[in-house]
Amino acid sequence: MKKFLTVMLALAMCCGVFTGCDKEDKLVVATNAAFAPFEYVEGDKYVGIDMDIAAGFAEYLGLELEVRDMEFDAVVTSVGKNGVDIAMAGLTISEKRKESVDFTEPYYDASQMLIVKSDVTDFDNCTTADEIVNIINTEGVTIGVQGGTTGEMFVKGSEDFGFAGLLNVECKSHSNAGLAVTDMINGNVDYVIVDEMPAKNIAKKMSGVKVIDIKLTDEQYAFGVDKAQPELLEKLNAYLAEIKENGTFDEIINKYFQD
Ligand code: GLN
Repeated sequence: MKKFLTVMLALAMCCGVFTGCDKEDKLVVATNAAFAPFEYVEGDKYVGIDMDIAAGFAEYLGLELEVRDMEFDAVVTSVGKNGVDIAMAGLTISEKRKESVDFTEPYYDASQMLIVKSDVTDFDNCTTADEIVNIINTEGVTIGVQGGTTGEMFVKGSEDFGFAGLLNVECKSHSNAGLAVTDMINGNVDYVIVDEMPAKNIAKKMSGVKVIDIKLTDEQYAFGVDKAQPELLEKLNAYLAEIKENGTFDEIINKYFQD
């Protein structure tokens, strides 16, 4: 009997140790960390606007943060599986995505933008999205996008987002926006369409390309929470409201928009 009790005690202690690093003490966030300034890798750290918010939220909950980096087109559907709690990935709200996640309140207004080689003058006189689209539709060009994103839907057309789609274009998907731009520099695609802030970030870092500064779409980013955890959605909304109120949110945005 004594031996039995000792074994039980040992088992209980083991369980205690295991729960110490169990999923329950962790907040698991899915992202695609090739989307500066929202999420990217610096050294051995995940940084960017979404990643700072993720870290702050984990601290607010008293949990350890685990970031899972994956292809963008896997991010939304990963939520609620294998312990993933939230998608934080510059994620645009859409009706289709609402089937997989519960979105928080929107935290950022975004849009698609066109990146071209610096010597391209075709769009110099454009002032509206329609003018840009009309030119592209007559050119028979190849456009690079990031797979699974709003940019891809804008090019191919999407009922979900209400995009008519571009005409006479070939759409080439890449695993991230930087690779799409590299492909353009190498002459394999004519233009790239990606989200505004990442587009501007890339144009700053890579020479020979420029952004046509006209919004092609009107989108809103939100975080996508596991549908089985309504209390987590509530807490994240409360946390977002708090950091918007106390200035932390603006500090994070300013920090990443400076460089
Ligand atoms: N906002 C775009 C989308 O939701 C792109 C996001 C991304 O590439 N991380 O599809």
